[in-house]
This record gives sequence, structure tokens and C-alpha cells, in this order.
Amino acid sequence: MILTWLRNRRRRRLLAEPFPKEWEDLLQRRVRHYRYLPPSHQERVRQIVPVMIAEKEWAGAGDFKVTPEMAVTIAGQAAVMASGFDEPYFFDRLHTIVVHPKTIRFTPEQTGRNPNLPGGWLSGIAWHRGPVVLSWGEVRTELTGRSPGRNVILHEFAHYLDGLDGPADGKPPLPSKESERRWYAVTEAEYLRLVGSARRGEATLLDHYGASNRAEFFAVSTEYFFELPHQLFERHADLYAVLQEFYHLDPRQWLPRIDSPRHEGTDESGDYQRFRARRQSRRGDVAQLKAVQAMAPGDALYALAIDHLRRGRPEDAIRLFDQLLEVDPRDEESLAHRALAYVRLKRLAEARRDSEAALAIDPQDTEALWAHGEVALQEGRTLEAVNDLSAALDVSPLKIEIRRARARAWMAAGRPEKAVADLTEALNVEPHDAELLSERARAYLALNRTSDANRDLTRAKLLEPEVAWPA
Ligand SMILES: [Zn+2]
Repeated sequence: MILTWLRNRRRRRLLAEPFPKEWEDLLQRRVRHYRYLPPSHQERVRQIVPVMIAEKEWAGAGDFKVTPEMAVTIAGQAAVMASGFDEPYFFDRLHTIVVHPKTIRFTPEQTGRNPNLPGGWLSGIAWHRGPVVLSWGEVRTELTGRSPGRNVILHEFAHYLDGLDGPADGKPPLPSKESERRWYAVTEAEYLRLVGSARRGEATLLDHYGASNRAEFFAVSTEYFFELPHQLFERHADLYAVLQEFYHLDPRQWLPRIDSPRHEGTDESGDYQRFRARRQSRRGDVAQLKAVQAMAPGDALYALAIDHLRRGRPEDAIRLFDQLLEVDPRDEESLAHRALAYVRLKRLAEARRDSEAALAIDPQDTEALWAHGEVALQEGRTLEAVNDLSAALDVSPLKIEIRRARARAWMAAGRPEKAVADLTEALNVEPHDAELLSERARAYLALNRTSDANRDLTRAKLLEPEVAWPA
């Protein structure tokens, strides 16, 4: 009580003082939004900034010094975000803002001690109920307007707001059950659409990073809501509406439209996104090629064969397994995987021959059991299929493809409730697999659980709108 009273008295005193002229100039120069805000909202920013400057701990990383200019810029951008709330909001539960000179990276000792720490280069981090950490280098680049749609201050402060009502789950505190219901309905659909597009490598307005999880989706949406409000409104009107309701702001009303080659015209932005996707996958290919080059010839051949199989090229895989088995006919892993390749091509007799040869060497071989079960399933011996696939899952319970196969076997055996159980297990591992969702929908339908089936189908269609799902 006393503390609150003291704090409020101190705040009143701070607010009674005139807003420093150099701060006003800084905000005008540095914080793009501030320049365009309506006077009432600018006034609100001028109330929030001095309190944040006085009350927060502004810590530099290492011996880096946070200058007043940096603090005012960061506080100013955060204050714009809060300028629509009914009362002045000072981010009360946030005590410390840590500023790094450049990008942030944890040392191997730090990540070793705490495996939850992210790896790689970071532009910012927000801890739940902890400090917000920002890279000044990143902040500066973004404020020049060279990377429209990106704003690490908005991003990290959105995480902070998200965490106010519990764990950061992509939903900030909302005023009513009704707004929560609307929030979930809209953001869930938008999130699944983004996950589907990101998986297919399609161009989207929202950065694919938002598909990482719901918390990142909220943080990324917040960046676009403030930075590219016109584009967000045009392409995601419902998402824009729930964000507008939460922030009590409509940035379209004041911010002029900036056209960015990255986000205008689907072709160009598509190229950009595809370029990024390609760059990522190429990095994978190069790493793999290097690894293969370093292997003994037999191991390299085997690795390439497995890769063909994984990428849906069973004929190429068989060709390489043939060579390997010529050298060592009792190579059980090659036998088992060649059996799987034959299953893909529906060459069942050869698949059975290979899987039985592998099982004679090792009766517990997961892939051999799997292939043997697939053959039984395709030949209509469903209980035998269930037995084989169950034995495979005993050895490798996390293999989703085997669980999916056993679910098909249960369906064929007239046991949809067992199929639902297997598909639910698989979805726990891969929650955004549209095919698993549609398969479970089919199992629900067989159980007359129509509303469960519809829920799965809706999610599947959001993830993969192009595919026509069987009813
Ligand atoms: Zn984030």
C-alpha cells in the first residue's frame, strides 16, 4: 500500500514536469509511429516514457552503456504500443531492459547449463516475467525502415504482454469471455494457415517465423499490425480486427502505407520467400553431401539409398540397395529398407521376400516388421498386420509412419476406436500433419463422432487447403 502510494506520488511528480525537448525531438526522429500519431496518443506516449525511463533498470550487456537516447527510443516505441489502452500503462511487471550492442548469442557454457536457452544469433529475447533483452544494432537497422514488417521492440514487448495472464501462449489478457472466444477462433485459423503455407514453402505476408508456435504467431502478428497495417488489413482482416480490439488502436488511421518490395505483389514476395526456403534446404543438402563424402563407400551408398526412400524415390533406393546386397547378401538393414521401397511400389511378393529374409536375421528389426505388416495389410490379412506393426511399435514407439500404418490396419479390421487412439498418439508428436488429421476424421466418422470429425477436417483444410479430403 505504502509502496503503491509512494510510487503514484513519484509518478505524479514526474508527470507534472515538462517533457524534455530533446526527448520530443528524439521520438519525432526515431520512432516512426510517433510522428504520425494523433495528438491525444502522442500525449499518452509522453506520459509513459518518463515513467519507464525513471522506473526501469536499463542495463547494458557486459560493459556496454545504455545511453538516454537508446532508452527513450525503446520506451517510446513500447509506449506507442500501449497508447491505446484506457489508462496510462507502464509495463509494471517489467523491471529490467537489457540492451546488447549487436546480436545476442549465448555461450556454449550458458546453453550447456540451461538447455532451454535458444541457440543461434538473436535480435531479442523476452523472459516470462523477466527482463526484455534487445539488440541495439537490430533496433537501429529496423528504425531506419530498411526491414519493413520487422520490429524487435514490438516483438519482444508483445511476448511480455502475452505472458501477463499466464504462460506465453499467444493470447494476451482480454476483457471478456466473448473476446477470448473470438480471439481463439480467429488466431487458431490464421495460425494453422500460416503453418500450412510455411510447410509448403509458400509466400505469405506474415513471416514464416510466426509458424513456430502460437506465442511467436502473436509476436509476429503484432509487428505487422503496427508496421504494415494496411497490408495486414487487406489480407487478414479478421486477424487485424482482433488485434485492433486488443490494442485499442487502428494504425491504418495514421500510418501512411509503405510499399515494400518484400510484401507487395505476390510474385516478388514469393521469390523472396522461396529464395529463403531454397537457401535453407540447400544448406541441408550441402551438409549432407559433405557428410556422405566423408563416409566409407558402403556407408555413403546406404545413406544415399535411405535419402532416396525418404524423398519418395523408391526405384532409385532399390537400385542402390541392390548394389549393397550384392556385396553383403546378409545386410539386414538393406533388406528391410528395400522391402519398404517395394511396399511403396506395391511389389508385394518382393517386399515379403526381403522382409522375411531380414526377420530371419533379426526378428526385432523395426523396418522389417513394418514392411511385413504393410504387406499383410495390403493382402487383406489385417490381424496379422496389426501384430507385426505392434511388434514394430514395441521397439520404436515414436515412429509416426508405423503408427499411421497400424491405424489403417485397425480401420480395416473394423476397430476405428483403436485407430483413433493411434492417430491421437501420432498427432501428439506431429500436431500439424493434415493427413493424420483427415485420417482421424475418417475414424471419428466411423464412430459417428461427427463433431470431432468436423473439427479435425477443418484443421486439416486450414493446413492444406489445396487437397480435397475424403468425407
Ligand atoms: Zn519471439
